[in-house]
Amino acid sequence: MSNPSYKRVLLKLSGEVLMGEQQFGIDSEFVAELAKEVKAAKETGLEICLVIGGGNIFRGMAGAAKGMDRAQADYMGMLATVMNALAMQNALEQLGVETRVQSAVQMDQVCEPVIRRRAERHLEKGRVVIFAAGVGAPYFTTDSGAALRAAEMGCDALLKGTSVDGVYDSDPKTNPDAKRYQAVDYDTVLADNLKVMDASAVALCRDNSIPIVVFSIREKGNLARVLAGEGTQTIVQKGA
Ligand code: UDP
Repeated sequence: MSNPSYKRVLLKLSGEVLMGEQQFGIDSEFVAELAKEVKAAKETGLEICLVIGGGNIFRGMAGAAKGMDRAQADYMGMLATVMNALAMQNALEQLGVETRVQSAVQMDQVCEPVIRRRAERHLEKGRVVIFAAGVGAPYFTTDSGAALRAAEMGCDALLKGTSVDGVYDSDPKTNPDAKRYQAVDYDTVLADNLKVMDASAVALCRDNSIPIVVFSIREKGNLARVLAGEGTQTIVQKGA
């Protein structure tokens, strides 16, 4: 893939990248660095939708494993994603990037509800739109939220910025011979249970022909490189 001609993208950041080097929570200095990357990408003329996870604060599955009611724990996870969205909005606006947060769980005093037409208008005006609270329902993840918003907003690609630099045929942390795919088909990802995003998110992207680009957001300047078709990444697409 070289010089992809994306006009509008959805950038999904897992909550854990907001921790920086911390073990938990939000490292505001690192969030400021991430915001610089987003600003640089926006300055190339791209329209940017953002979805941020909540795993740096709370994951429903972790709560359920400790005996909590799963749905209740998931609501807490969704609230965590709203906190991350507000932290990112703050960091972007400190850099002069106008940003709106739209939450799938309504909280009028804090941010807007998800309204697609209003989000369209924000993007037209050059604002970044952060979609918080995933799909707004328990038993889902923000990956599914990202796939849903990417489809709804007509994004040309879903960029998944995470801690690893792509998709491997086995876990690179435990297998030194693990191989990174340059490109891989959605169906291979699903059949081989490769760690990209959860299955419902991958299927939604497949059914709507939205390529998924997996890359490491931890390396400085990598988002710009990936957008230019350079840098280390894996693209999940049809026929790969
Ligand atoms: N969550 C949910 N429904 C959604 C999105 C998120 O219930 O549509 C909850 C779920 O508990 C999840 C948590 O929010 O574990 C945080 O999101 P996620 O695990 O996707 O964050 P990430 O792994 O990307 O940091």
